[in-house]
Amino acid sequence: MVITKDLSRLGRDYIKTGYYLENYFPEHGVRYVAITDGIDTFLDSSTNDITPFKAIMNDMYAKDISKKIRSVVKEKQKKGEYMCTFAPYGYKKDPNKKNHLIIDENVRDIVIEIFDLYSKGKGTKYIAEYLNKKNVPSPMTYLKNLSEPKKWNDVTILNMMKSEAYIGNTVSNKKPKLSYKSKKRILTKKEQYLIIPNTHEPIIDKETYEKVRFYLSNRDMNKKTKHEFLFRGLLECHTCHCKLSIGSKTNEKPIPYITCSQSRKGKCPSQHMNYKKFETQLLQYLQDFLKIYVQKDWLAEVYDKFKTDTDTIMDKYKKEISSINSKINTVSEQIDNIYFDKLNKVISEADYFRYTNKILAEKSILEKRTQELSDNINKILEAEKKREDDNELDNIINDFLSMKNISKSMLFRLIDKIEIDENKNVYVFFAFSKLNILNESINEVISLKEICKRDIDTYHRKN
Ligand SMILES: [Zn+2]
Repeated sequence: MVITKDLSRLGRDYIKTGYYLENYFPEHGVRYVAITDGIDTFLDSSTNDITPFKAIMNDMYAKDISKKIRSVVKEKQKKGEYMCTFAPYGYKKDPNKKNHLIIDENVRDIVIEIFDLYSKGKGTKYIAEYLNKKNVPSPMTYLKNLSEPKKWNDVTILNMMKSEAYIGNTVSNKKPKLSYKSKKRILTKKEQYLIIPNTHEPIIDKETYEKVRFYLSNRDMNKKTKHEFLFRGLLECHTCHCKLSIGSKTNEKPIPYITCSQSRKGKCPSQHMNYKKFETQLLQYLQDFLKIYVQKDWLAEVYDKFKTDTDTIMDKYKKEISSINSKINTVSEQIDNIYFDKLNKVISEADYFRYTNKILAEKSILEKRTQELSDNINKILEAEKKREDDNELDNIINDFLSMKNISKSMLFRLIDKIEIDENKNVYVFFAFSKLNILNESINEVISLKEICKRDIDTYHRKN
């Protein structure tokens, strides 16, 4: 005999409840009683006839509640509230504000150190071992205060590197539940993630995070391919800004070529380029370039000139803004005056609208220009603020100039990205603004056009 308080206690899912009520219980001679609903399968009662309907109602009720809860959760996620049970390592839940994260000062430095190591090219396994050697409690050990400590492992480190929580963002909707009936969750595609920026104080600066992200994208790509190309992950199409891929057609003798995926679809005019030749050329260029950088006297001159140029431009912008502001004031006065003219019937209503519309149009042009100028000023200020680590740069360059075998991690520390345009011009964007300034002042784009032309011809003939 089965007794429940009411029918809903037997189950919310109509299909399953129905199975027990209609099949299992009668077949096995089980007497079922739902006390408050007045159901007793051993009594011949009219209440029993409405049992299936009640079961359906319960099912719908559960669906409704589940929907309500989901929409509340979604609303909270949209506001950037942190809905998980535990805060990510490095943070704790704010005792004064629900679903808000604050930095856990006890472990903040460990998080910074981990990101620092990874952004300098150390692998996840290395970092995990390093932390274990230093007897740093792993996140789980720290969180639950385990007596038998669990060790750091590479997966923990990798997950930390992938987490946007450390730059102050809240990412949710990662694994929404399928339906109220199932506990199974599906992984959401990255585009469906809900990313709310700046919901809490970041631990890691954006630059370090970008470097880490770059390493990660590179790591994912390496998994798929046997070949290792030094510049893979750094190349971008200058024309359509897609990532460039390196691959080869399966010929009798595969030659790796750089291609733009959009160009394969006919959407981008960029051409194939022999990777090996590109690599040799670019490495040679980088070495020559860095040799110039090492001659610091010359660099100081260039840098000073850049600084004075920037100051002059900033001054010009500021002057223009103040002159525009006074123009805007005059225009506003004009509008006032015309209004009084209209009140005093000096001008007609029609003229009044004609004049004001003209003046307002003028005003909006002026306002647009001020916005443009202040945006420019902000961009310059931002660039100047960019953290410069001269020592780090010197070390990388020394490594670069002295080493015969240049490593990938070194290139990733040195270079932000490399763009190639449809005419096979190569643009290098360094990770250090001093190098970028120097690069611009040399005013030289490496053109590999001539060198590669012959290869393209052979490539086309072969395919
Ligand atoms: Zn392209």
